[in-house]
Amino acid sequence: MKVAKTRRSTKLARKLGFYRHDNGVRSRIYSLTLCRDPWWQWGHRLMILTGTNEGGNWYEGGNWSEPEPPTWWYRRSETKRMWRTGYPRVRSFEIIRGDYAEFQRRTDGLNEDQMYEWQALNISQDGELQLGHRYWGGSFYGMRKDEVHILRSYLRAWHRMDWFGARSWLWSQGLHHAVNGYRPGACGVVPPRESSGYSHWHCECDRRHIGPHRFRAYEWVDGGDVVYVPQSETGTDDSEVTP
Ligand SMILES: [Zn+2]
Repeated sequence: MKVAKTRRSTKLARKLGFYRHDNGVRSRIYSLTLCRDPWWQWGHRLMILTGTNEGGNWYEGGNWSEPEPPTWWYRRSETKRMWRTGYPRVRSFEIIRGDYAEFQRRTDGLNEDQMYEWQALNISQDGELQLGHRYWGGSFYGMRKDEVHILRSYLRAWHRMDWFGARSWLWSQGLHHAVNGYRPGACGVVPPRESSGYSHWHCECDRRHIGPHRFRAYEWVDGGDVVYVPQSETGTDDSEVTP
C-alpha cells in the first residue's frame, strides 16, 4: 500500500513538474512530502533541506548528500595579439555557473579538441576541489595565472552556498540523527561494545519491555552478542540495516 501511494504521488509530481533532480525548493518540498519518517526522526528531513541532490532514489525524491556547490565550466573566449610581441592574450572568459543543461547546449557537437578548451571547477563528493578537464577525460592541469580570479569567485560562491560552514554542519547533524535512529520513549539500549552490533542500533522496543533488545531484525540480551532474527511475527521491519 505504501508503494502504491508513493507511485501515485510520483506520477502526480511528474505531472506538476516537481519530479526533477535538481536542488530547487520544489525538489526539496517534493522529497519532504515523500518522507514517511515519524516526526521524531527528523534527520532525513534536515538532510533534504540542507543537502545536495545527487539524484538517488531516496523515497524516489533524490539522495540528499553533503552540500556541494555546482560545477562551473569555463573557456577562453576572445584572444587578441599583443602589440609588438604578438603573443596571444586572453580578453575574456566564457563561464557557465552550474547550469549543466547550458553546458550541454554549448558543447553540443564539439569535437574532442574543442571540448578540451572547456575547463571545470568542481567540489567532489569527498569535498575535494577539482580543477581541469576531468569530466571528459584527461587529467588535472596547472591553473594559469589569469584563471585564478575564476577560482577565487568559485570559492566565494562555495562558502556562500554553504552558509559559511553552517549548512554542512546542519547536514551532518541530520545524517548523525538519521543513522542514530533513537525513538523518544523507546528502550534505546545499544548492543554491548564487544558485540558485533553497532553503537547506533538503539533498541526499538518500549522502555519496560520483556525479552531481548531488538533493532530491526537484530536481537541481543544485555552483555550478549547480536543475532539476526528475521521474525515476521514480531511485526517489525526486517530489512537489512541501511542508515
Ligand atoms: Zn530494549
